[in-house]
Amino acid sequence: MEDEPPSTAATNRRRLFGNIPDSTWNDWKWHFRNRITTVEQLNEFIPLSTEEQAQLRWVTMRYPLSITPHYLSLIDPCDPDDPIRKQAVPSILELSMGKMGIEDPLAEKEDSAVPGLVHRYSDRALMVLTDICPMLCRHCTRKREWRHGGWVRTDDEIEAMLDYLRRHKEVRDVILSGGDPLTLSTQHLESIIVRVRAIEHVEIIRIGTRFPVVLPQRIDDELCNMLSKHGPIWLNTHFNHPRELTPESARAIDRLLRAGVPVNNQSVLLRGVNDSLETQLRLCQGLLKIKARPYYLFQCDEVQGTEHLRTPVEVGIRIMEGMRGHTSGFAIPNFVVDLSHGGGKVPLQPNYIVSQTEEELVLKNYQGRKFRYRNPNNRKATRQMPVESLLSAAKKQYQTKGAVDADRVVV
Ligand SMILES: *Cc1c(COP(=O)(O)O)cnc(C)c1O
Ligand code: SF4
Repeated sequence: MEDEPPSTAATNRRRLFGNIPDSTWNDWKWHFRNRITTVEQLNEFIPLSTEEQAQLRWVTMRYPLSITPHYLSLIDPCDPDDPIRKQAVPSILELSMGKMGIEDPLAEKEDSAVPGLVHRYSDRALMVLTDICPMLCRHCTRKREWRHGGWVRTDDEIEAMLDYLRRHKEVRDVILSGGDPLTLSTQHLESIIVRVRAIEHVEIIRIGTRFPVVLPQRIDDELCNMLSKHGPIWLNTHFNHPRELTPESARAIDRLLRAGVPVNNQSVLLRGVNDSLETQLRLCQGLLKIKARPYYLFQCDEVQGTEHLRTPVEVGIRIMEGMRGHTSGFAIPNFVVDLSHGGGKVPLQPNYIVSQTEEELVLKNYQGRKFRYRNPNNRKATRQMPVESLLSAAKKQYQTKGAVDADRVVV
């Protein structure tokens, strides 16, 4: 992106991983194995003061640290307020503001029909396949799980979930989630997808993953060939900032699309990361350039350890207002709050209705100009008038116009 420090990613890769050949850099398993998970390792890449190192050791005891080499190479090491860094590098504020918020705000545990299966909306169900993620995002809704980390559902648990899905014919949309489901091997993932696909009433499968952003090398030919066999599969990913739109990520999205997998984006509104109209425009327009459709912009959940990254709800509404009318309609995501206690997602948008009666609305357009809009008031007409008089009224109208054979008018 032209107004960013000259290609941070490429420069950083050379500086930090100069001895790593392309063949290794392009191998997703290498990135996965070489994640940065300790404060000492982090300090080798991003200079931290002694005080900061001590603080981060405390934080990581509660909320562990994990950054992929790819994502690390996007961080500007000289800028403590770097928007990429804020998503990846722990902050003492996770503990010092930690009293605010709740551990499981979405009450996913209560909504679990069988362990790992969240069935909140009648026709959609979510399968939590693992709690492992290649990168641990500091704003993660599930950060409470990290300490018990490192599990993948056993086959018995998967079978119990599938059993539930087989018995619930109302489920037509199954979401594979985590953690990150792409941490499973392609073969393992395929064995699950095949069994979900075999359930007749399941129409679509969705995968929720941040790999295209934090470890795009994972989207390789093997994975795409597999996905192309079991469609319709949709993929939702999680870009939060325009600087994450790297050539590697663009290639990953392109491969998915060629495999017949449409890609949508669910971002989280984060203070100091993407909480301005200008950044959101660049992010969403940049997403369209790599052919990923902005889907949701989430208000950051009320999760313990994320308070420092949350924004007042008005910030999101103002961003929506600034986008509508000023960019392609399909560059605009839905701004949603995921309610605490399992209430579900609620869309929030600016109010465009200035006043409203049965006869007329006054509406505000994207420029703030007000317009009258006649409200078709045919409630009485359609509800109360007998069909015969409707018919004769219709005939009369057509007869006076004389263009249509009145007997062909059917009401
Ligand atoms: C978000 C979510 C879904 C999917 O919702 P959509 O609006 O269809 O994207 C399904 N189940 C749960 C539990 C969710 O949180
Ligand atoms: S990718 Fe999603 S689930 Fe994983 S750490 Fe980030 S926000 Fe949490």
